[in-house]
Amino acid sequence: MFNNLSDRIAASLKGLRGHGRLTEADVDKTIREIRRALLDADVAVPVVRDFTGRVRERALGEEVSKALNPAQQVVKIVNDELVEILGGATGELTWAKNPPTVIMLAGLQGAGKTTLAGKLAKWMKDQGHTPMLVAADLQRPNAVNQLQIVGERAGVPVFAPEPGNGVGNPVLVAMNGVSTAQFQQRDVVIVDTAGRLGIDEEMMQQARDIRDAVNPHETLFVVDAMIGQDAARVAEAFRDGVGFTGVVLSKLDGDARGGAALSITGVTQRPILFASTGEQLGDFERFHPDRMASRILDMGDVMSLIEQAERTFDAAEAEKAAQKLASGEDFTLDDFLNQMQQLKKMGSMKKMLGMLPNMRQHREALEAFDEREIDRVEAIVRSMTPAERKDPKLLNGSRRARIAKGSGTSVQQVNQILENFKKAQQMMRSMGSAMGGGAMPGGPG
Ligand code: GDP
Repeated sequence: MFNNLSDRIAASLKGLRGHGRLTEADVDKTIREIRRALLDADVAVPVVRDFTGRVRERALGEEVSKALNPAQQVVKIVNDELVEILGGATGELTWAKNPPTVIMLAGLQGAGKTTLAGKLAKWMKDQGHTPMLVAADLQRPNAVNQLQIVGERAGVPVFAPEPGNGVGNPVLVAMNGVSTAQFQQRDVVIVDTAGRLGIDEEMMQQARDIRDAVNPHETLFVVDAMIGQDAARVAEAFRDGVGFTGVVLSKLDGDARGGAALSITGVTQRPILFASTGEQLGDFERFHPDRMASRILDMGDVMSLIEQAERTFDAAEAEKAAQKLASGEDFTLDDFLNQMQQLKKMGSMKKMLGMLPNMRQHREALEAFDEREIDRVEAIVRSMTPAERKDPKLLNGSRRARIAKGSGTSVQQVNQILENFKKAQQMMRSMGSAMGGGAMPGGPG
C-alpha cells in the first residue's frame, strides 16, 4: 500500500535537502511533484488542492524561513498536513449509555462488510465486550451462511433469519436481532446489511429502513480501498443516501494506491475508524492518522507493529522462553522452531517488515523473502530425532542427507538452517549470561 506514492513524496522531499535557505521556486517544485504524486494515487482533486495550498502557505511562511533546517521543517509540514487529511486525531467509536450499542454496516457488495463484521466482533470480544452479529444481508445468496461461518470463527453468536424471524425481510431481521441481543444482555450488536454492485435507490432505501428501525449508535461505511477514485463518489452517495458516522477502509493490504484513504475524510468529514488488511480475522487495525502518515512518508509505523506483536505473541510461550533463558538452560532446535512459529503467527512477515522505518529501500529483499522458509524450518526440524534436536552435532553427512530427503529439502538448505540456528543459539547464550543465568556448561559455578 502507498508504495509508489510514498516513494515519490520521499524523492521530492529529498530534493530539498542540502539547500540552506529555501526559495519560493524550490518549494513550488516540491509541491508540484507532491501534487502530481497525489493525483496519480487517485486522491480526490479538491482534497489535493486544499492539501497543496496549505503546505505551500506554511512552507513559504515564517516557520520555515526561521528554521535551522528548512528542509526538515517542510517534511514536518507535509507530515502534519497528511495527518490532517487522514482525519487528525484517532477516531473513537461511540458506545451507548444503555447497552447494547448498535452498529450498522453499510457499503457496496464485495466491500468487505461481512468479513469486517467478524473482525470487529472478535476485536471487541478480545476487549471483554459481548458482541452479537445480525445477518440482515438477505440479498446475496450466501451472505447469511458466510456471516455464520465468520461468527463461529470469532466465537461470537450470530442472529440469522429463520421461520418466524422474518425470512425475506431484512428490516424485521435487524429489529429481531437487536431485541434478541438486548434480551440476552449482549453489550454490542453488529448488523450486517446488503450491498449492491452499484449504488441504487432500492438498496439505499433498504439501508435507510434498517437504520430507522434499529437506530444505530454508529453506522460504519465499509469501502474497498482498491476502488481508488470511485471511493470518494461512493462515499458521498452513502453519506447522502443513508448517512454514516465512521468509515472502515478494507483491503488496505492490496496494492491500493492510497487515494481512498487520503480522500474520504476530506470529502465526507467522517473519521476513518478501522482498517481491514487481509482475509483473516486478525487482519484488522484501528486507524491512526498519525501512524498512517508516517507510513506514507516512510518514517515507519513502529507502534502498530508493537501492538500487532502484543496481540499475536503467545504470552505463555514468551514467558517460558524468558524463564528458560534466565535459568541458563541451552537453546535447542525445538526452541528455534518455536520462535519461528511465533513469528509466523504474526501474520505476513512482509507486511510487518514494511512497517519498519526506511524499509522501503530494502523492498527488493522483502519481496524476495519467502514465508515458506518457516515451513521449511519446521519440516527439517521435525525430520530430526529428539536427540538430534538437542544436540545438532550428532548430525553427520548421511543424517543430513536423510533429513533433506525426509523434509523434501536439499542438504544445502539443511546446512543453512543449522547455520542460522547456531547464530541464534550464540545470541541466546550471550543474552542468557547477560541476564545472570550464566550456568553454561563448562562455565563458572
Ligand atoms: P461484503 O459483500 O461487503 O459482505 O464483502 P465480503 O466480506 O464478502 O468480502 C468480499 C471479498 O473480499 C471476500 O472474498 C473477502 O475475503 C475479501 N476481503 C474482505 N476484506 C478484505 C481485506 O481487508 N483484504 C483482502 N485482501 N480481502 C478482503
